[in-house]
Amino acid sequence: MSIEVVGIIGSGQMGSGIAQVCAAAGLKVIMRDINDAAIAKGMGAISSSLDRGIKSGKLTAEQKEQTLSRIQGTTALADLAPADFIIEAATENLGLKQQILKELEGIAKPDCIIATNTSSVSITKLGATLANPERFVGMHFFNPVPVMSLVEIISGLRTSDNVVAVTRALAERVGKTPISVKNAPGFVVNRLLIPMINEAIFVLQEGVASPEEIDAGMKLGANHPIGPLALADLIGLDVCLAVMEVFYRDFNDSKYRPAPLLKEMVDGGMLGRKTGKGFYTY
Ligand code: NAD
Repeated sequence: MSIEVVGIIGSGQMGSGIAQVCAAAGLKVIMRDINDAAIAKGMGAISSSLDRGIKSGKLTAEQKEQTLSRIQGTTALADLAPADFIIEAATENLGLKQQILKELEGIAKPDCIIATNTSSVSITKLGATLANPERFVGMHFFNPVPVMSLVEIISGLRTSDNVVAVTRALAERVGKTPISVKNAPGFVVNRLLIPMINEAIFVLQEGVASPEEIDAGMKLGANHPIGPLALADLIGLDVCLAVMEVFYRDFNDSKYRPAPLLKEMVDGGMLGRKTGKGFYTY
C-alpha cells in the first residue's frame, strides 16, 4: 500500500513535530486542529524547528520552504478525506479521542490506516470505537519528534499484521527506528522509564541521597544522559503522576504506587520546568 498523503489530528507539540518529519520526508501533510490560533502555533513551531536545522547546517533555506509547502493546515476535519494514513495526536483524553475516531470514520477512505500517538490509552480499547478495528494501530513518537529516533508501533488485540507492517515502513520512511510492541499500559519505554523516576522520588523521600547525588549516580553509574529527577522536571511531575496512576490502576499491582512526595509536589504546583520549580529551580 502506498502512502502519499498523511492526515494529522492536533497541531500541538507532538502533532506539529510529526507533521514536520512527514513533510521533510516528501509526504503531503494535512494537519487539523480546532481553531486558527492552534494551527498558527503549530506552523510557527515547525518553522522555528526548521530554522534551527538551517542554523546547525543540516538544512538549506530551500529545503525549509519545500517542507513547509507540503503542509496544509486546516480546521475542517473533512479536509482529511484524501489521506492514506491518519495520525491522531490530539489532547490526551479518552472521550475526546473516541469522538475524533468516530468522526474520522465518517470521512476517511475505507482503506485509510488510522493511528494514535496516545501515551496512555489502550490501543485495543480505542480501536473498539471503530467499525473496523483491524485498521487501527498505535504509533507512539517521542518528544521532540524531529530529534528522537524511536517510534513504538503498538498492535491492539484486533490490529491486522499488514497494518503493523505498513506503519513500520512509514516510521522508517520518516527517518525513525520502529519497535513492535503489543498493547500494554505504558508500552515499553514509559513502562520502564516512569517507574524508574518514581523510584528515584522514593529514594529522595527516604533521605537516601540528595537530588543532585541521585542524578549524578544515574548519569555516571548507568551512563544516562540526564538524571531521573531532572528528567521528571523536564517531562512534568503531573504527567509522571498521571502515568503512575494509570499503571497502578491498570496492572492492579501495588508496585506501581506513586511516591507520596510526587503527589505532594503536584498538589503544591511544583510541576518541574513548566512552573519554574520541581526538584530543581529554573
Ligand atoms: P498538546 O496539548 O501540545 O497538543 C494537543 C493539540 O490537540 C492541541 O493543539 C489541541 O488544540 C488539539 N486538539 C484538541 N481537540 C482536538 C480535535 N478535536 N481535533 C483536532 N485537534 C484537537 O499535546 P501533545 O503533547 O502534542 O500530545 C498529543 C498526544 O501525544 C497525546 O495523546 C499525548 O499523550 C501524546 N504524546 C505526548 C508526548 C509528549 O511528550 N508531549 C509524547 C508522546 C505522546
